Amino acid sequence: MEAAPLFSFGVITDIHYADAEDGYDFSGYRRRYYRQSLNLLQNAVEAWATETVPLTFVLQLGDSIDGLNARSGEAEGALEQVLAALGQLSVPVHHAWGNHEFYNFSRARLVHTGLNSRPAGAVAGPLARDCQAYHFSPAAQFRVVVLDAYDLSILGREPDSPRYQESLRLLREKNSNDNLNSPAGLKEPQFVEFNGGFSQGQLDWFNEVLKFSDETQEKVIVMGHLPIHPDASDRVCLAWNYEDALAVIHSHRCVVCFLAGHLHDGGYCLDSHRVHHLTLEGVIETPPESNAFGIIYVYEDKMILKGGGRISDRVMHF
Ligand code: ZN
Repeated sequence: MEAAPLFSFGVITDIHYADAEDGYDFSGYRRRYYRQSLNLLQNAVEAWATETVPLTFVLQLGDSIDGLNARSGEAEGALEQVLAALGQLSVPVHHAWGNHEFYNFSRARLVHTGLNSRPAGAVAGPLARDCQAYHFSPAAQFRVVVLDAYDLSILGREPDSPRYQESLRLLREKNSNDNLNSPAGLKEPQFVEFNGGFSQGQLDWFNEVLKFSDETQEKVIVMGHLPIHPDASDRVCLAWNYEDALAVIHSHRCVVCFLAGHLHDGGYCLDSHRVHHLTLEGVIETPPESNAFGIIYVYEDKMILKGGGRISDRVMHF
């Protein structure tokens, strides 16, 4: 029997809930179970809630409701249902924002919803008004950083804002297609409209957080909606400037793990600096008889992922 973990937390991503008939992804091959996704979330909540030793928190890695809701005018109602399911938990839930949050809501609206999980006491990110990044310490010697992977993006921002204009310029420079959601023929195929990136302000802030954690010998778990390592993703689903985020992480010793969603098939790699990159399988493409959630048990020297359904168990040594 393994000794008791220092703490544990739940993970789930890409729920994409909508009260809609099943559909298919853009390739036409992957079935999307829009309505069922709420049941799978409920299964996760029940599993998390019945842990003998209570979880410390839960991470929801983005795309909690599907963009379909925006078209049917049901965004607020769909979000309410997802939040009601998560609200049965008695621990904090930390949310990353994905592209589908922005298909439904502007940033200005999101900060006033239950998806704004930045705790009052958390150390807010750079230009807190404009970027959702923050960090918190769930246990002694550990820190969690929530990154905002759509800080640079044309999603969720007012077209007349400087950040939108800057993002559109960058996107057009890298993507010459008429349809900016198409990666066809691109040298850097991650430069599509449904992705985003990290502003220099956020990267500088991230660097300072990691510097502090290095000095205090903390271990850091980072999460964001978009994967940042090519070996834990396909080339299209990466954050625009994933290399910049990786460079910040690799200039410090403290980061042990990067958690992401977005790529519904999931992915994993241990990089050259011994950082585990775990891209979690999405709920939305998980058949109703299966599941897609996890519990991560954190120890002094490792994290053990216990997967539910199509998420596999994994031991990640530090
Ligand atoms: Zn996504």
